[in-house]
Amino acid sequence: MTTIALAVQRLRADLSQCAQQHGRSADAVQLLAVSKTFGADAVRQAAAAGQRDFGENYIQEAVDKMAELRDLPLVWHCIGPVQSNKTRAVAEQFDWVHTVDRLKTAERLSAQRPGDLPPLNLCLQVNVDGGANKSGVAPKDVVALAQAVQGLPRLRLRGLMTIPEPHADAAVTLAVHQRTHDLFEQVKAALGAPADFDTLSMGMSADWREAVAAGSTLVRVGSAIFGQRPRKT
Ligand SMILES: *Cc1c(COP(=O)(O)O)cnc(C)c1O
Repeated sequence: MTTIALAVQRLRADLSQCAQQHGRSADAVQLLAVSKTFGADAVRQAAAAGQRDFGENYIQEAVDKMAELRDLPLVWHCIGPVQSNKTRAVAEQFDWVHTVDRLKTAERLSAQRPGDLPPLNLCLQVNVDGGANKSGVAPKDVVALAQAVQGLPRLRLRGLMTIPEPHADAAVTLAVHQRTHDLFEQVKAALGAPADFDTLSMGMSADWREAVAAGSTLVRVGSAIFGQRPRKT
């Protein structure tokens, strides 16, 4: 078994254990393996350990990788910024997008989603802490955006996603994640608690434990599986 396959197995076990420690079921949290900057071979190694969901940030890199991996039944998630000139590729190639923060982008994705594919799964990115990372809709505007997106025919609104500022103090990280979970519940209630609205995409290699404690349903983990990323130039 390769280092990557072992890392996937270990992380799955740790995720289950952590969820149960917090009174959640062992399978409450889905693992998204973030394979950006790593090649198709690394994805294959993770897939050999049973990993199916992969996250990518850079559209062209992702599309090339998908082409090399057509023989595997993988689920691809776009977790990078979606500029308007990239919406068509995202609508045509991906199963999920986590990073929509404006109606314009959602409208384009819905219009460009091919009719022979199921609706595109979508999470709204929320800027929970107003941090230096300025992507994401402000918390006060999420409900209105979610209601508008809910009406778009070729999208399936699944939940919220966040990338909070890192904090050295785990208690601060936990508090921010808990606020995000509260917001998720508020938005869900405002939408009438649709069964589809079931995803809180929150937590990365450094903070997935706090995210699971706070109610995340999907963690996006890259370096803890694939190792340190080469610096993007
Ligand atoms: C790169 C990235 C991740 C994974 O980060 P790690 O710290 O390597 O786990 C998760 N989410 C997003 C949006 C990313 O860009």
